[in-house]
Amino acid sequence: MSEKKSKLFYKQKNIGLTISAEEKSLSDSYCEEYKSFLAVGKTERLATAEAIRLARARGFKEFSPDMELKPGDKIYCSNRGKALMLAIIGKKPLDQGANIAAAHIDSPRLDLKQSPLYEDSEIAFFKTHYYGGIRKYQWVTIPLELCGVVILADGSCVDVEIGSEPTDPVLYITDLLPHLASAQKNKKLGEAITGEQLNIIVGSLPVDEDGESDKVKLSVLKILNEKYRITEEDFLSAELEAVPAIKPRDVGLDRSLIGSYGHDDRVCAFAELKAILDTQDPEKTAVCILADKEEIGSMGVTGMQSMAFEHFMSELCDIQGVKLERCFANSFCLSADVTSAYDPNFPEVYEKRNNARINYGIALSKFTGSGGKSHSSDASAEIVGRVRRMFRNENVVWQMGELGKVDEGGGGTVAMFMANRNIDTIDAGVPVLSMHAPFEVVSKFDCYMTYKGVLAAYQDK
Ligand code: MN
Ligand code: MN
Repeated sequence: MSEKKSKLFYKQKNIGLTISAEEKSLSDSYCEEYKSFLAVGKTERLATAEAIRLARARGFKEFSPDMELKPGDKIYCSNRGKALMLAIIGKKPLDQGANIAAAHIDSPRLDLKQSPLYEDSEIAFFKTHYYGGIRKYQWVTIPLELCGVVILADGSCVDVEIGSEPTDPVLYITDLLPHLASAQKNKKLGEAITGEQLNIIVGSLPVDEDGESDKVKLSVLKILNEKYRITEEDFLSAELEAVPAIKPRDVGLDRSLIGSYGHDDRVCAFAELKAILDTQDPEKTAVCILADKEEIGSMGVTGMQSMAFEHFMSELCDIQGVKLERCFANSFCLSADVTSAYDPNFPEVYEKRNNARINYGIALSKFTGSGGKSHSSDASAEIVGRVRRMFRNENVVWQMGELGKVDEGGGGTVAMFMANRNIDTIDAGVPVLSMHAPFEVVSKFDCYMTYKGVLAAYQDK
């Protein structure tokens, strides 16, 4: 490139061409830790528990409002075991603002219905109600695990986890054989498998008891009762989630990618978590939010629209005798969520000049939404400028990314709910291939650069 051209043109490079051997090895070891987190944190509850375990090991203490907090103190606050807020108290008081990063730890999945268990043709099934934006045809004929909690009649809570150990059985949803699919194969992709067909096989052996109908269902209930003390009525007060029983694996002969269930958005959640664990004595208070319910609109007590965040922050402000409104007005938030990576298999939906690409670093999204930026917070040029400087100063490789072509579809994140609180907010996260699929793919370098990006935000003065 001529000198003039290189001065005037904006040209990005694939991280593979620029990264040093030293940074590549940091990136690789970061990604090994991330894969371990993914393997354990398969649901919002399991991710919360694992995040608390890691935080406690690094000196974070459970927050209570009567604590005396001084700069450098590390605290966490679990929201009903399904969402988590962590903070490190800054040297500056909270009325000068906090540096916040907000990711979500819920992922698309199949929830069991409240009366799930039935038997048909001597096969026992669980009925499901899908959670979040799934493509239903992707969830048949793959191994599934079951994770969650059951609250028994006496109020005690039983943790259920079936299918995670290599010796465990897994669960399964059938599909038609091609030989009999002549009608199905002509249906639209979105209609070929329906929500009410996502019924999970849980058993097939009848118990030998005379005069009993539903002998297979009875045998499944016997097994559940022996292992977990569950009776059929207990499903009414249960939260059981079927997730893909597929471990995180390196993808590609060069091992440059990671395939896993739940990158959206645990890839940003882990970046935030690891960054706050690695932050020491920040100037401003650093706040890490791991939210629930983003995939269904951030509603409810554990979603980002919940007052739980206000209450946590106002209790921190009260301790310092400052106003929450001042704190929010001066705060900055990275809404850390994944975006879509350009996929050359489907060029028709992407806009090459503006799409994020794998191996080009953490992707900023000035806006999300759909149909003319609807339901998007649309960060200001000033905020984009601020993040540009922040990332440049910390050698964070980043790119700007838009989800896809105009009017091709769209999506949302928690950004607008943070921005509605009068907090300057911008979306940033890892570009994903096959987002919301049971096995999604991200680039290792992009994971690592997202960690570096969040770290830069926490350490911003
Ligand atoms: Mn997401
Ligand atoms: Mn999502």
